[in-house]
Amino acid sequence: MWCLALSWTLLGSAGAATFGIETRLLGRPLTAQQQATVREAATRVSALITSPFAPVRVDIAANECDRGLPRVQGTLKQLLVFVVVKQLGDDVYATGMPCDLRDGSYLPVYGVIDLNSVGLSELPREDLLDTMIHELLHVLGVGTLWEPEYRVSVSGDTDGRTFVRRVGGVLYYTGPRALAAYRALGGQKQGVPLDPDAGHWSGQAVCAEILSGSASDFTGQVNPVSLLTLGALEDLGYRVNRAGAERFKLPQGSCAAQAKRDAAAARAGAPVKVPQGGFATCAAAHAAGVPLPIRRGQAGYRTGLDGDGDGLACESGR
Ligand SMILES: [Zn+2]
Repeated sequence: MWCLALSWTLLGSAGAATFGIETRLLGRPLTAQQQATVREAATRVSALITSPFAPVRVDIAANECDRGLPRVQGTLKQLLVFVVVKQLGDDVYATGMPCDLRDGSYLPVYGVIDLNSVGLSELPREDLLDTMIHELLHVLGVGTLWEPEYRVSVSGDTDGRTFVRRVGGVLYYTGPRALAAYRALGGQKQGVPLDPDAGHWSGQAVCAEILSGSASDFTGQVNPVSLLTLGALEDLGYRVNRAGAERFKLPQGSCAAQAKRDAAAARAGAPVKVPQGGFATCAAAHAAGVPLPIRRGQAGYRTGLDGDGDGLACESGR
């Protein structure tokens, strides 16, 4: 077993940003590379926010928000995030949540991320980065402060605002900025569809976005932080760098169908490998990803496949 307090390390901070995020590591040690990835995630998330973190005096008792957290006294000048590396369940990579919320703005003062130590050594860098960005967004309140029972400040006040509405058994996010982003992306539903946990964009309807429920289906890529998630940050009261939004489009149909189309589009855009002597048949050319018919001058064209010699090979698709 390990002792949380003994391995408390100052991991570093994204302090140069307007909105700094300081990560403090507890629990099982991370490798130097993993620590760098955690710092990179904090830097990336800091860069999304253009409103300052207002300094706040705190005297937080040990274990107040989560078991094993140390006492914190003094003035916080950046969002403080404890990253606790410990054994979690088999089916979870990490969890993240805000702790104390300010009076008035309901924005977090500090928060905690539990990172599963099981399998961490096999987790590729991109997946750890993706996970940490996702959890840091939860610490900021995205997906965690959408309902009034969680939007309770240190004084016990709540503004009663809810960003979630249930219609016919389906949950929708209805905060105005993220909803506007959803509409701009072509979304047709009355709100942004959510997963049943009310804390993530629907894995079925939004697919690969940083806060999508299927974002945990690791693909070796860092899922994009789109205008949807930036809109959700704005709805919570942050000012954001909209130019920092990453390219994202809503899927047409199911996530699986969209992934298939994206893969086909990537293949179509990739250079075609023409075998020596050319493709034997049009079917072979098609199987290699060449769009038919093939024009003279395009990769894969040869006169033997252009029976009528009009410069278009494989016109009938054969
Ligand atoms: Zn999550």
